[in-house]
Amino acid sequence: MSDHADNSDSNIFRVIADGLALARRAPELQPDCRCHFCDEAVAVSLLFCNAECRDDYQREQSSLRRGGIK
Ligand SMILES: [Zn+2]
Repeated sequence: MSDHADNSDSNIFRVIADGLALARRAPELQPDCRCHFCDEAVAVSLLFCNAECRDDYQREQSSLRRGGIK
């Protein structure tokens, strides 16, 4: 009995779950040529100028949520 197929299935589901989690994290954001954190001009398809701004933004959002703002 090989469980190879089972392993690759669960890998695929994990990738899908990660993608959904990422998409849910910032459902309200639309690219608008500006970094959503520091307002720096960015390429039209980007939400943030770099990963630090993205992480800082997400940290800010989750601390706002923890602060009871709904
Ligand atoms: Zn930025």
